[in-house]
Amino acid sequence: MVGVLALQGDFREHLSILKKLGVDAKEIRTKEELSLVDGLIIPGGESTVINKLMRRHGLAEELVRKAQRGFPILGTCAGAIVISKEILGDPQVPLGLLDISVKRNAYGPQIESFEDDVEAKGIGKVRGCFIRAPIITRVGKRVDVLAKHQGNPVLFRQGNILASTFHPEIAGETRIHKLFLEMIKTRREKVQEPVSSTPPSHRSRHP
Ligand code: GLN
Repeated sequence: MVGVLALQGDFREHLSILKKLGVDAKEIRTKEELSLVDGLIIPGGESTVINKLMRRHGLAEELVRKAQRGFPILGTCAGAIVISKEILGDPQVPLGLLDISVKRNAYGPQIESFEDDVEAKGIGKVRGCFIRAPIITRVGKRVDVLAKHQGNPVLFRQGNILASTFHPEIAGETRIHKLFLEMIKTRREKVQEPVSSTPPSHRSRHP
């Protein structure tokens, strides 16, 4: 089951994309709820608010712990800001899970919000809404940039972490979520593997 962080922001749009894809989803507001899902989507909204509420609910620490063990996370816009490594000129302390540096609200006031097609590696043309989006000023070596828009990196993957500075969920775009579901499936198979591949001799020593 996929979790959608439902503390603030456009979590309903993510839930409706998952519904469209026929996937079981759950709104997440507590640590207990987080323990029931195989992956978490952090929606767009106001990163300062999402970050503060995550810390207040004990979700920030728990998510960092889980992410270090390979738990899949998808962050869109504010969600990407919250999980980034560094936010420039902002007192907010991010979770540091995705090695990028972020400048919030960095598109000029005239084009603060716009919608456009973005060519994504391995996916094709996807529709994205950029709403008071951040600009990524630095991308770490371990981060794979899956898409750029006018030279700016906008879609990223670092192992179990997927993030975009735009909102696929608002444009009704499903393929980013499909990629995330694939990541969850691969992780589930990996987690199950060591048990089934344990040689019988090992198992018999511990009846
Ligand atoms: N501007 C918001 C922030 O910095 C992000 C906007 C969004 O998620 N669409 O948190």
